[in-house]
Amino acid sequence: MKILKGIPVSPGIVIGRVHVLDDARGRRVPMRRVLEENVDPEVARFEAAREASIADLGKVHAVAVQEMGEETARIFLFHIGALSDPALIDPIRELIREKHYAAESAVAEVFRRWTRRFAAHDDPAFRTKVNDLQDLADRLLVHLQGGQGQTLGHLSEPSIVLARDLTPSQTAGFDRAKILALATDLGGPTSHTAIVARALNLPAVVGCHAVTALAEDGTTAIVDGDRGRVILSPDEETVEQYRDLIRKSESYTLSLRELADLPAVTTDGVEIELLGNIEFPEEAQAVLELGGTGVGLYRTEFLYLTGSHEPTEDDHFAAYRKCLEMLSGRPLTIRTVDLGADKYTQARAEIPERNPFLGLRSIRYCLQNMPMFKTQLRAILRASAFGPVKIMFPLITTLHEFRQARHLLNDAMEDLEELGVEFDAHVPVGMMVEVPSAAIMADAFAREADFFSIGTNDLVQYTLAVDRTNERVANLYHPTHPAVIKLIRDIARAGKRREIAVSCCGESAGEPIYAPLLLGLGLRTLSLTASGIPVLKRVIRGMSIKQCESIAKKAISLDSETEIAGYLRDKVRKIVPEAFEGWANEP
Ligand code: PEP
Ligand code: MG
Repeated sequence: MKILKGIPVSPGIVIGRVHVLDDARGRRVPMRRVLEENVDPEVARFEAAREASIADLGKVHAVAVQEMGEETARIFLFHIGALSDPALIDPIRELIREKHYAAESAVAEVFRRWTRRFAAHDDPAFRTKVNDLQDLADRLLVHLQGGQGQTLGHLSEPSIVLARDLTPSQTAGFDRAKILALATDLGGPTSHTAIVARALNLPAVVGCHAVTALAEDGTTAIVDGDRGRVILSPDEETVEQYRDLIRKSESYTLSLRELADLPAVTTDGVEIELLGNIEFPEEAQAVLELGGTGVGLYRTEFLYLTGSHEPTEDDHFAAYRKCLEMLSGRPLTIRTVDLGADKYTQARAEIPERNPFLGLRSIRYCLQNMPMFKTQLRAILRASAFGPVKIMFPLITTLHEFRQARHLLNDAMEDLEELGVEFDAHVPVGMMVEVPSAAIMADAFAREADFFSIGTNDLVQYTLAVDRTNERVANLYHPTHPAVIKLIRDIARAGKRREIAVSCCGESAGEPIYAPLLLGLGLRTLSLTASGIPVLKRVIRGMSIKQCESIAKKAISLDSETEIAGYLRDKVRKIVPEAFEGWANEP
C-alpha cells in the first residue's frame, strides 16, 4: 500500500480500478508487435494518424500566420512536409509491414533513429530540429492512441484515471461513464482541470507528483478528493475504513438535499443569492436541483474546448437558449470567452507563449479576434430575448478594454437592429474583477460597469504572483492572504458607493470558511459549483450578518494568511459545526 498526498480539488471518495493514461511527451513507447493478419489494419491506422496530424498542422499553420506572421509560421510547413517525406515515413511503413511492429512502436523507433542522427549532426541547424522531430512523434502518437475523448474507449469498467497532467479540454472530453475519479502528478488548486472535475462531480486530487510512476494499471486505488490523498493498492483494513466514510458521506449529502428548497437566509433575515458556476448548459439543471437560483458564471469558452469545430453563432445561441430554458426565468450571467492561459483550443495550444497567464488570454484574445468575438456577442444578444441574461467580460485590466468590449457589443446591437432581430437593449453589462489593476481602480470601473463579479481564482494568482496551475507553488496560493482580502473589501466598497451589484464567482465563493468574510465585507451574491451549494446554504443559514461583519473586521486586522485561515476555520466550526459533519472521522 502506498499513500500519496496531493491537492484535493474535487470532493468525494472513490475506490476502484486504476487506469494510467499514457503521456506521449518524453515517454518510451514499449515495443509491441501485431499478428500477421493485423498488419494491413495497422498500416491503415498509421496512415489515418498521419493524415489527421497533417490536418491539425494545417489549422495550426493558419492560426500561426495570423498571430505570428508568415515567416515564423513556416516551421509548421516544415512539420507538414516531414510527415510526407519518404525518408521518414517509408521506414515506419516497412517496420509495420515487414517486422509486424505496432504502429506506435514503429513511429517511436524511426523517430528515435532520426532524432539521434540530428542530435549528433555537425551542423547546428540540424541539432535545433530535434525538438521538432519529438513534437511530430508526439502528435502521431496522440492520434494513434485515439486523441481526446476516446482515450478511455477500451476500458471494460469505469476506472480511476491517473495522468501526468490533463488539459481542461481533455477532462471535459472524457466519457463520463468510463471514469470514476481523477488524480494527476501536476496541477494546482484552481486550475481549470480541477474546475471541470468538480463540474462533472468527479473526485479529484492533483499535484500528487509521482502517482503515474508508482501506480500500476489494473490495480486498486482509493482517490480521496476530500482530504487530497491517493492510496495505491490499499490493504483490506483501509478499504473498509473508506467504505465506511463513503456511507457516512452519502447520508450527509442526502441530508443536505433537504435544504434545496429553503432560502439561503441568515439568522437575522438577510437573503443571500446563491448561483451556480457552469461550464456546460446541462449543468444549469443541477444548479437548480441543488438549490441555486440561477447561474452567476457560464464559462462559455468550453464551447470551444469540447467541440471539434469553432462554434458558430447558432451553436452559441443554442447553448445559451438551452440554459435559459432550463432556468425558466431565473438569471443567466454569460461570461464572454476566456480562452488562453490553461484553456487552449487544439490549434492555439501549438503556439506556446512564454508566460501564458500574462499573455494573449481572455478579453485580450477576443479584442484581437473581433469577428469571433462579435459572433459570440450577437448570439448572447439574440438569447437575451428569451430570458434574463447578463453579459460579463473577463480579465479586464484597463478602462479602455472595457470600453472597447462595450463598443463592440453596441455594434452587435446595431447589426441585430438592422436585421430586425429581437434582443434586450438593456442587457446588464458587467465585468470580472480578477486582476489587481481592476480591483485598485474599482471606483473608476464602477462608473461604467453595471455589475462586478470578483474572480478570486485569478485575483489570488495575480496578486500573489503564484501560478494557479502549478503544484510546486500551490503552498503559496492563499485566498486568505490579507492583500487579497483588502482588495475584495475595496471592490465591495466601490460597488456600494456607485450602487452596482458585486458578487464573487471564484472558488472562494464556494469555500464555507470564506462565507462569513465575503458576507461581512458586504457581498450578497455568491456563485459556485453546483455541488457546493448545499453546504454553503447550511453555513449561511447558521450565521447572522452581524456575526459575519465582526468576523470580517477581525480577519482583516490580522497580518498573515495562516492566521486568517485559522481564525475563519475556528469561527465557522464554532458557529455552524454541522457544516463540517461530512468531514468528521478522519481515517
Ligand atoms: C476566477 O478567476 O476566479 C474565475 C471565476 O474565472 P476562471 O476560474 O474561469 O478563470
Ligand atoms: Mg478568471
